[in-house]
Amino acid sequence: MTYFSHAPLNGNISPADFLVKNELGTFFGTTEAVFNDVWQKLTDPSGNSSLYISMEIGADLDVYNPLRRHLADRGILSSSAPELQRHLKKTHQGPVKIPNYGGGLGVLAGDTLKSFADLRLPVVAISLLYRHGYFSQYVDSELGQLSRSTVWSPEQTPTLYLLKDPHNPAIPLEIEVPFYTEDNQPALALAHLWMKTELSSTLDYFVPELLLDFSVTGNTKVIQETARQLYNASSSLTKALQRRLLGAGILPAVNALGITSRTIHLNEQHGVVVVIQLISEELQQILRHNNIEEASNEQIQEAARRISKKIVYTIHTPVTAGHDRFDKKLYAGISRKSCRRILDVLAVDADNPAAYNFTNFAMRVNRTANSVSRIHRDVTRRQFPAFAHKISAITNGVHHLTWISEKRAALFDSIAALDNWRKDPGVFTGIETLLKDHSFRSSFAKTWKRDSAQLFAYVNAMLKEHRNGMTRTWINPPNYLSSILSDHNLLSPEVFTIGFARRFSTYKRADLIFSNIDMLCDILLDRQRPVTFLFAGKAHPADEPGKKVIKHILSYQAELFEKSNGLANLIFIPNYDMNIAKMLVSGVHVWLNSPKRPLEASGTSGMKAAMNGVPNISIMDGWWVEGYNEGRTGWKFGKEEDIVSASLSESKESLFYEEDSASFYALLPDVLDAFYNSFDSLFLDKSLQNLLLNIPLFNTHRMAGEYADRYDLALAGDHQEKMNYFAKLYSSDNFSISIE
Ligand SMILES: *Cc1c(COP(=O)(O)O)cnc(C)c1O
Repeated sequence: MTYFSHAPLNGNISPADFLVKNELGTFFGTTEAVFNDVWQKLTDPSGNSSLYISMEIGADLDVYNPLRRHLADRGILSSSAPELQRHLKKTHQGPVKIPNYGGGLGVLAGDTLKSFADLRLPVVAISLLYRHGYFSQYVDSELGQLSRSTVWSPEQTPTLYLLKDPHNPAIPLEIEVPFYTEDNQPALALAHLWMKTELSSTLDYFVPELLLDFSVTGNTKVIQETARQLYNASSSLTKALQRRLLGAGILPAVNALGITSRTIHLNEQHGVVVVIQLISEELQQILRHNNIEEASNEQIQEAARRISKKIVYTIHTPVTAGHDRFDKKLYAGISRKSCRRILDVLAVDADNPAAYNFTNFAMRVNRTANSVSRIHRDVTRRQFPAFAHKISAITNGVHHLTWISEKRAALFDSIAALDNWRKDPGVFTGIETLLKDHSFRSSFAKTWKRDSAQLFAYVNAMLKEHRNGMTRTWINPPNYLSSILSDHNLLSPEVFTIGFARRFSTYKRADLIFSNIDMLCDILLDRQRPVTFLFAGKAHPADEPGKKVIKHILSYQAELFEKSNGLANLIFIPNYDMNIAKMLVSGVHVWLNSPKRPLEASGTSGMKAAMNGVPNISIMDGWWVEGYNEGRTGWKFGKEEDIVSASLSESKESLFYEEDSASFYALLPDVLDAFYNSFDSLFLDKSLQNLLLNIPLFNTHRMAGEYADRYDLALAGDHQEKMNYFAKLYSSDNFSISIE
């Protein structure tokens, strides 16, 4: 069964079905009716739509591309009309990577926007376009992580369009963003606007993602360099300027397009500079003049109160490195006095009077703030007691159509009980009988095997390539095994495989389970059971401790192999991205998560595994507190301190390596026995319970339902009903995690 019911057209498509030409440009994959519907909602005088502001958006086309899928299903690969042919070629053969994300925050943003599109919500996203993307990772066994900028071509990328100037279609639309030169002179920065059409799964709607491109001739070198690479942290100045480019660009961009949204959703505080502008405008009205620096504290607070009604804010981490603080002296060099006047009152840093705290600022200026899981809500309330009353939980989700593997999806498509699963991940709540069905169980297990085989084909090819490349490059292959394995002796997908892939931050403790290699190897030798560990992930280039963890991982490979007589194989896959993530979460046998509780606010890769029926083995932190289901869906290990008193420190002593790794070693034999001795019963049971218990909850359709509720959008009756249905699949905020 294919998802689309249209009859194959053998390439005969009419331009009107797929092309829109208007004053902003030519857009492929949508119709005039759809485009106008979206635009009408975003420019409606009611302002009943919202802006979604994010520093990064992860939506690579190799893991999800409804347009290409639709065209392929209908057999539309080429056309005799030259204009269509050009677009078809780009769609089918153009680049599939959009390296405008660094990790979980961006992937979450992309997943969220896809669900907004599927649910036809009136939302427009704003982010930056990074000409050098996020860095590409190379890994050398001696040196550890090496980074290079990622060169890509927005011009060649499908679904991405440079918007035209409506008054002069020969040139790009250019906006002017108020800015400051390095020596504190007011200036203007110029930006072009790119629009990615984030299409709904059935192509009947899209969410525009506006990417501000500051690599424009006419901008100073500093601005161009600041905008070039995501999370460029070469200096605090660059970091502060990059945040400003995002925040200060928002109003000029929406004004240029006539967008009227009255709600602004800050996905993290990175774009909070927009609020300074809004408060300035408000103060001008209160004061009836432009000398804002003369405003009293009360007047500034009053303006902030009014503006707060427009703002909703999602905080994503309790970790200090994620809370932007900027030195007041540094800020004095890049802002006008009135801006500092506002920050002096609203961005107070309790720990450091010489800094502005932008997380504190964002916490203050919103009508509602949400954490990304229940446990994270309780930690956030503890960190920001003054705002505890307005902090609630909306637990993260993932876009089910993106993360469920093609093979699993095809199986779900073939099952009558799951008829509507693509549109409604809630249907999995009704599959209890299906899970007992022999033929379903064995089909599911077969599908899993095929996904594992695909993953290991990739891993083995990678090892071979590294082995062959040894003489060609100066990079030492990152994997010890690439020189040991031969074409006749490959890693097997039948071996119990533990996956771990994350940003390498110290609190995620990627190396936790290798704390005591002797003990780990003894467990395997005792049972004569092999294990393959697949690891991947990037450390931010400026994060030295994070990079050290990668070096640790690499350095354990030989020792593990030797001490276990070859039973333990550890592989590092370089350059983690969404595609590698998708292969891993569907191809491994368990997904490992070993952060220090309670520092993992949510975590989403575990949800991706759960969607594929891959059990998690995890510390009780982030989403897993909600997804564990008393062990029906996987395993837990590690300390479960009460979070009211748990340490939030990342210092070595507070990371509990010894206790938590010992807890993992105590658990491991059970997991090995379940996999090797009771796969068809115990192991598969845990796997399949994830479909029933976790898919309906940890998806972005449900999350979007809860957000829409916060946005207070006035939707049409039946639309509102549908959103309520998704919101009610779960109540993120219901339960307290804290032990009273
Ligand atoms: C899902 C994903 C992440 C986030 O994973 P966490 O479990 O939240 O750490 C990071 N990077 C990529 C490429 C992903 O697909």
